[in-house]
Amino acid sequence: MAKVVIIGGGVAGLAAGIYARKSGYDCEIYEKHFITGGQCTGWNRGGYHIDNCVHWLTGTSPDTDIHRVWREVGVLADDIDIIRHKLFLQVRQDGKVLNVWSDLDRFADEMTAIAPEDRRQIRHFVKMLKTFSHMDMPALKPAEQMTFADKMRFLRKCWRLIPYAVRYNGVSLPDYVSRFRSSVVRAIISSYLPATFNVISIVYMYATFLSGNGAIPRGGSMALTKRMETRFRQLGGKVFTRHEAKQVGIEGNRLRSVTFADGTTVEADNFIFACDTRVTFDLLGDKYMDNFFRKRYADIDTYPVFSNFNVYLAADSRCEDLPDMLIFSCRPFSIVGRSHDRIVLKNFNYEPSFAPEGHTVLQVLMVQDAADFDRWQHLYTTDREAYRAEKARAAAAIVERIVELEPHYAGHLKVIETVSPYSFHRYCGAYKGAYMSFISTHKTERELHNGRVAGLDNVYLSGQWIQPPGGLPNALVSGRFAVQRMCKVDGTEFVSDCK
Ligand SMILES: Cc1cc2nc3c(=O)[nH]c(=O)nc-3n(C[C@H](O)[C@H](O)[C@H](O)COP(=O)(O)OP(=O)(O)OC[C@H]3O[C@@H](n4cnc5c(N)ncnc54)[C@H](O)[C@@H]3O)c2cc1C
Repeated sequence: MAKVVIIGGGVAGLAAGIYARKSGYDCEIYEKHFITGGQCTGWNRGGYHIDNCVHWLTGTSPDTDIHRVWREVGVLADDIDIIRHKLFLQVRQDGKVLNVWSDLDRFADEMTAIAPEDRRQIRHFVKMLKTFSHMDMPALKPAEQMTFADKMRFLRKCWRLIPYAVRYNGVSLPDYVSRFRSSVVRAIISSYLPATFNVISIVYMYATFLSGNGAIPRGGSMALTKRMETRFRQLGGKVFTRHEAKQVGIEGNRLRSVTFADGTTVEADNFIFACDTRVTFDLLGDKYMDNFFRKRYADIDTYPVFSNFNVYLAADSRCEDLPDMLIFSCRPFSIVGRSHDRIVLKNFNYEPSFAPEGHTVLQVLMVQDAADFDRWQHLYTTDREAYRAEKARAAAAIVERIVELEPHYAGHLKVIETVSPYSFHRYCGAYKGAYMSFISTHKTERELHNGRVAGLDNVYLSGQWIQPPGGLPNALVSGRFAVQRMCKVDGTEFVSDCK
């Protein structure tokens, strides 16, 4: 039985492991952290559960291909409850309140009532959302293995989107929202994703939620990846945590071995790198980096990434008056020197198991860019105390703004965790602290990587970085695709129930 070693035990690495075992490979996953899951994880703090990731999972609609793949890897199942919020997001801006309801007609009516001056633009926006709600991502085969019939099947699902994609791919979010006069409608379109994203990304995101394809499996992020690990182990796979790959042994055009921080070495027939690709090329050597990554790592302005400064708060009530997700404008405050005047607040009260009875965990998500990451990194590496103090100061400023919005929370919110962009780098090796892949801006064309490393015949890449803009579904399919590519090269059968 040929042996495959996988470096990195996030969603991509676990998916690759499951498909490698199903396809008959002897398979071992090596993960640097003490648990698998990568960015899709969670941890406990003083009686509360900190959920690091899933706000929506693309693929909760049974009509989609990606749904079948999530089921095959054990993430979705008949006995996994799916939480479908009626309200995805509420925006409070300039004294007005606007809601993104799961019922698109209700959302459209509310927008038009609040901003009759934008009636025409709203009608067009809603039409786009309706069209995009039929979208299904290619999840069964990598592009180069798709037959003519596969491509036609995909086209039949997506042809209605093409005119919008052509018209809006090159339009930036700020340009698009400037067509609306109402500040609260502008905020609802432009506040959830960083301004560098293109219009199609926000339309796709809202359409995913509105079509019922972006809900949340009960238990959150850590439970989700634990189910994948369980599936992998049940199939006979082995997991080695606390194993950070540090060095590789290359002979000619083949990778022979990987050596870990503890000095142990593993040899295999094939290797799948499912860690951050910046880490992969630090290990393999930049001479193996192709143009796809070379141009992206060389030009962060054209290929930006983003991260977050996250604050978790324990509330001593159920926070019933706060929606599941709220964005509100506030008095400006700074985080590592950059001013912010809006806060994204997530309410986890739909997951009672995350907090003691009658209590709730709230999460604040503040977008950070690469320059912010550099400042956090500088603080951490030069003055650990100043790093901690900046996290505490920014968290206190955020709590103050929440209390200004809802004064009855004064004295009832306690900071239990702060996560900086540098934390994502420290724990997962994330490039610039990014937890998604390269942003799809109005300047970048959608380009997928072929998952191979030129010059190394037995190395395959998986992970969200080869499938911009990343996220859980892209990480998942990248793991599946890596094994499909490996089977093709080895001349073995790829085994899956999802054809
Ligand atoms: C706050 C937050 C919210 C998010 N919300 C959503 C959401 O709602 N929906 C969504 O779809 N996505 C969301 N995401 C993104 C999602 O978590 C990621 O896209 C996905 O988990 C990436 O998976 P991956 O396997 O490609 O990479 P990773 O999760 O980064 O996994 C890579 C693994 O490799 C390991 N590793 C790194 N270096 C080494 C080494 N040298 N040796 C061994 N192992 C190594 C890392 O420790 C890690 O476990 C969110 C992420 C965050 C942080």
